[in-house]
Amino acid sequence: MKRMSEELSVTTLRCAVCHDQCVSACPALESSRQLAAYPSRKAMISRDVDQQLLQLNKDVASVMQYCIGCNACLETCLYRSHPNDITPVIRHTRRELFEHGDYSDELKLILANVEKWGNPYGDLTTTRKRLLNEIQGEKEKKGTILVIGDSSILYFSEQMAVNSLKLIKEVTDSNIGLAESTYCGWELWHYGAVNWFENNAKAICKEIEVFNPLCVVTLSPQSAVLLRETFHHELGLSISVPVFSMAEFILEKVENLKGKFSLSNSPIYLVQSASEVFGMGTKAGDALMTSLGINSVSRPYTFYPMRNAHYPEGIVLDLHPDPRNVIAQRLKEAISNTKATRVIVTTPEALTNIKSELTLPVQDLAGYLLDQINPLDVRGASQFSI
Ligand code: SF4
Ligand code: SF4
Repeated sequence: MKRMSEELSVTTLRCAVCHDQCVSACPALESSRQLAAYPSRKAMISRDVDQQLLQLNKDVASVMQYCIGCNACLETCLYRSHPNDITPVIRHTRRELFEHGDYSDELKLILANVEKWGNPYGDLTTTRKRLLNEIQGEKEKKGTILVIGDSSILYFSEQMAVNSLKLIKEVTDSNIGLAESTYCGWELWHYGAVNWFENNAKAICKEIEVFNPLCVVTLSPQSAVLLRETFHHELGLSISVPVFSMAEFILEKVENLKGKFSLSNSPIYLVQSASEVFGMGTKAGDALMTSLGINSVSRPYTFYPMRNAHYPEGIVLDLHPDPRNVIAQRLKEAISNTKATRVIVTTPEALTNIKSELTLPVQDLAGYLLDQINPLDVRGASQFSI
């Protein structure tokens, strides 16, 4: 058994003695109404396991399921200047559980798909081939950018992937290559399958090394954070070229966009994922909007990495009712309190559960920007669709 680091141990202690100032923020608690979902409970159990006062078993596993890693608790944490992040503690205990064999059937299914198809969703080869058509055509060669077309986007909204590639092409003179790798391992990492995560990460690093691109661009913001930060901090793997999310890359090249841009006056509501906002996140979508001077209403971040509605997302699905319902209601309410006439998302999962409830148009970020660049270019398909 691997003991917690001193840092994690301090985190558990701080949460364990706290009166759960953050509970109102936790969607896992609100949806489950279980004592086990209290952050302090998760901290105490993790601490007891670490100190070998408690054995790893199904009961511990059932407590550790009550977290979707949304980091909403950070916003209301008692320690305002240095909020206590409980998620690394939960990941640590999940890892111990995984190695002990205590993990759900849903996670087993993810592992089976990763083994067979290299991603949690299944066969995406045809989708990837269609995307390859988007990057055909040689430009004057100025090196090549390697794009990682994340499986969640390929599976969930191919059009979002197409839009992202078109936008990347719009701002660069370099050639674009599409990586064979379509999965950076978020679920494996989040649910404690660390050996799987490491093997997956090594394969991606190898592909990047062999390809030797100018830089790597991931279509999903989570993947950029994983490649750039998590691979390095948790696995000691380094990627020698810069890694950007799509929004970060466009932000880097924003000067190439400005002359082409016709501003829309309609205020928008931008939905970003937790990985863009917390920890190593860069809020690049938000910064991009500001940089382009896009008219926007206040944009409270919506911090919730919702998973694919059609696909089991691991142990989170053991919760009844699913915390996504809570998240969806909160998001809907936040949007209705603004004057937004349009919703823009940076991850395809973000609005799975509220799309049917919203009357506003919903679009992916790249599709929206392409429409601003050339409003006459009919891009009906850029409308977000499931
Ligand atoms: S995250 Fe902060 S508020 Fe919540 S239990 Fe831990 S220390 Fe308390
Ligand atoms: S990360 Fe989200 S789900 Fe986990 S304890 Fe914090 S608020 Fe709850």
